[in-house]
Amino acid sequence: MFPGATTELHHRNAFELLVATILSAQSTDARVNTVTPALFAKYPDARTLAAADLAVLEQEIKATGFFRMKARAIVGMASALVAEHGGEVPASMEALVELPGVGRKTANVVLGHALGVPGLPVDRHVQRVTTRLGLARGTTAEAIEAELCAQLPPDQWTLASDCFILHGRRVCRPRPLCEKCVVRTDCEFYLAQAAPVRPPVRRRRTS
Ligand code: SF4
Repeated sequence: MFPGATTELHHRNAFELLVATILSAQSTDARVNTVTPALFAKYPDARTLAAADLAVLEQEIKATGFFRMKARAIVGMASALVAEHGGEVPASMEALVELPGVGRKTANVVLGHALGVPGLPVDRHVQRVTTRLGLARGTTAEAIEAELCAQLPPDQWTLASDCFILHGRRVCRPRPLCEKCVVRTDCEFYLAQAAPVRPPVRRRRTS
């Protein structure tokens, strides 16, 4: 269904994808893509972003929402890159999640799409789609990530996440379009809905 699926966040390197992914929280990729061209032209690397004026930066990213918190997060992240990683984005989960504003999902996005390290980002779409399909039973993103990673070879983790995300956006929405879904015959949620309703058992009168 989704040949060549990948992140819809525009980026040219790991630094840009890290910034864009932090900005995408509670926003849309399309909205983030409207602010990042000018942002990356002005702040092309961690050093320039670490030195940004917070008040100015807030206005530059305002369209993505939660701009005060995000401005602090990306400046803090950039400062940590400069102070601890020579301005480069580290290629490990352990180091990435130590950066301000970076959780497992963001780290996996950057690892899988920009650093060549297998990663399976779990966002709300991945959670919804994989639990409906019956591929995951966990109730946290981290538990679902572990379940999905255990079922797939590492070189398919990132592509699988991208496919689940696109499926969740276009077909398996909160109100799912099951009749248009090509995997419905493999879907626990759909099969449970489609199961015939048994009529109530009638007891025979004995007197
Ligand atoms: S059949 Fe429905 S619930 Fe199952 S994956 Fe497709 S859209 Fe989602």
